[in-house]
Amino acid sequence: MATADLAPTPVRTADTPFSNEPFTDFTAAENKRAMEDALARVAGELGREYDLIIGGRRIQTTGKIVSVNPARPAQVIGIHQRAEADLAETAMQAALAAFPAWSRTPVAERAALLFRAADLIRERKFEFCAWLTFEVGKNWAEADADVGETIDFLEFYGREALRLDHAKPPIQFPGERNQLRYIPLGVGAVIPPWNFPFAIMAGMTCASIVCGNTVILKPSVDAPTIAARFMSLLEEVGLPDGVVNLCQGEGPGFGSAIVAHPKTRFIAFTGSKAVGLEIHESAAKTQPGQIFIKRTILEMGGKDSIIVDADADLDLAIEGVVASAFGFNGQKCSACSRAIVDQSIYDVFCDRLQARVAQIQTGDPAKNVYTGPVISPKSYNKILGYLEIAKSEGRILNGGSPIENPEGGYYIAPTVVADVSPTARLAQEEVFGPVLAVIKSNGFEDALSIANNTEYGLTGAVYSASREKLDRARQEFHVGNLYLNRKCTGAMVGAHPFGGFNMSGTDSKAGGPDYLLLFTQAKSIAEKIGHASPADEKQSELMGM
Ligand code: NAD
Repeated sequence: MATADLAPTPVRTADTPFSNEPFTDFTAAENKRAMEDALARVAGELGREYDLIIGGRRIQTTGKIVSVNPARPAQVIGIHQRAEADLAETAMQAALAAFPAWSRTPVAERAALLFRAADLIRERKFEFCAWLTFEVGKNWAEADADVGETIDFLEFYGREALRLDHAKPPIQFPGERNQLRYIPLGVGAVIPPWNFPFAIMAGMTCASIVCGNTVILKPSVDAPTIAARFMSLLEEVGLPDGVVNLCQGEGPGFGSAIVAHPKTRFIAFTGSKAVGLEIHESAAKTQPGQIFIKRTILEMGGKDSIIVDADADLDLAIEGVVASAFGFNGQKCSACSRAIVDQSIYDVFCDRLQARVAQIQTGDPAKNVYTGPVISPKSYNKILGYLEIAKSEGRILNGGSPIENPEGGYYIAPTVVADVSPTARLAQEEVFGPVLAVIKSNGFEDALSIANNTEYGLTGAVYSASREKLDRARQEFHVGNLYLNRKCTGAMVGAHPFGGFNMSGTDSKAGGPDYLLLFTQAKSIAEKIGHASPADEKQSELMGM
C-alpha cells in the first residue's frame, strides 16, 4: 500500500509517556470553524459505495447495506456490500494466509503501524468527527470523545505491545535459561457495536493485530461507513493485505458464521447481553476440525446506577446524573439509567433534576445540539415501548414522548421517570436511550443494595461527602467501573480500564494493562545452558528468542 507520502511518525517506545488525547474546545472560533468546514467537506462525500476488503481484494456483492443519517433518514451516508455467511470461508482463508508473516513481523513494526494510524487520525480529527455526526448522530463533543478515544487506544496498545514484548523474564531455574513469550492466538473475529463505532471498533481490531493476530472485522450495520474509512486509513499506513479483512454483514448471518467457524480462535465482541451470550454459547460448541478452545472477550450491556446520598453536593450530583443519563441520548453502555436518591433529599432532587432536564436541547447533531436522534427505527420503537411501560411504572417528570420533526429523524425527548420501584422493568432492563428512572432509597445501606440488584455490573457512581460511605462503596458496590463524586460515563483509556461484572461481560478491562494478554497466549521456554555453542546462544538472545 502507498505509504511513501506519509510524514515520519515520531518514535514511541514502551516507556514513552502516554497521555490522553485532549478534548477539543469547540467554543474556540478556530475549532468551531474547522468542524463546520469538515462537516461541509464530508457532506460532499456522502452516499458513496464501499467494497468489502478481503485479503486486499475489493469485493462487491448483490446485497447492500445502506447507512443513513438518523437525524434525516433520507440522507444516505454510505452504501456497503453485504457479506453473507458464505463469504466467511473466503475471509477466513485470507486471514489464515496473512497470519504466518504478520505473526512474525517484529512487534516494534506492528506497534509503529498503530502509531502512524494514530498520527493520521489526529491530523484528520474533525473529518472523522463529521463522519460520526452524520452516521450515528453524535454531537461535536461526543464525536470528538469517540475520535480521541480511538487515538488513545492506538497509542496505548502500541506501547503495551512493546512492553509485553519485553516483559520481565520468569524466575531463572538454575542451569537453565527461562523465557515467557506472549505469542498471538491466530485468526479472530472482531464484532463491535454501533455506539462507539470508531473507538471500540478500532480498539478491538488494533489490540488484536498489534499482538500478531489477523482478523475478520464485522462492523455494525448501523455504522459501516466509519469502519470503511478506518480500513482505508489502515491501508494508507501500510497494513499488509489480509491482516484485517473488512466484511460488512448482518450479525445473525455473516457474524454468526465467523463465530462458528472452526478456525476462529477468538472473538472480540462488544454489544448487547443477548448477542454476547449467543456468541459465548456458539463459541463453546466444538466444530469438526477445530483444534483450539475458542476464547471469547465479551463486553455487554449495563443498567448503571448513580447513588445520591443525603449529604451529597446536589449541584455536582445533578450535573453528573444529567451528563451520564442524557449524554449521547443515554446510548452508552455506561449511561446512568437509575438515579438512587436518599429519601431525605428525594423531593428537592426530583424538582431540581426536572428543571435541569427541561433545559436540554434536542435537535440536529450537525448543529451541535446537546442530544440528537436515537440510532435507528428499531431502537426508536424499543424505547417508545419503554415509555409506555413508564406510564404505569412511575411518574413522568420530563419527556415521555417522541419529538415530531419534518425530516423524520428518530428523536425522543429526554425522559425522567420518578418513583420507580427497584424491581420494576424500567429499573432492571437496559433501555439504551434517553430514559432515566429515579428510585427512592432509605439510607445508604438500602441504596447499595438497590444498586446491586440487577443482573448487570458495568458502571456506577456515588455522590457523597462521607469518607466512610465512599469507602464502603469501594467494597460493596459491585461494578467493573466505580466512580466516586463524578459521573459514571467517560472512561479514559489508561486511567479507567473498562469492563463489567456479571451479565455485563467478561470484564476485559479495555484500555488497561491486562487487556492485551487476552489476545495472546504465553509460551514458556526453558533451555538447558551449555548444550549449544555460546555464540549461538548469544545470537538467539540478541534476536529475542
Ligand atoms: P448488538 O448486540 O445488537 O450488536 C453488536 C454487534 O454484534 C453488531 O456488530 C451486530 O451485527 C453483531 N451481532 C448481532 N447478532 C449477532 C450474532 N448472532 N452473531 C454474531 N454477531 C452478531 O449491540 P448494539 O446495538 O450494536 O450495541 C448496543 C449494545 O452494546 C448495548 O447493549 C450496550 O450496552 C453494549 N455496549 C457495551 C459496551 C461495553 O464495553 N460493555 C460498550 C458499548 C456498547
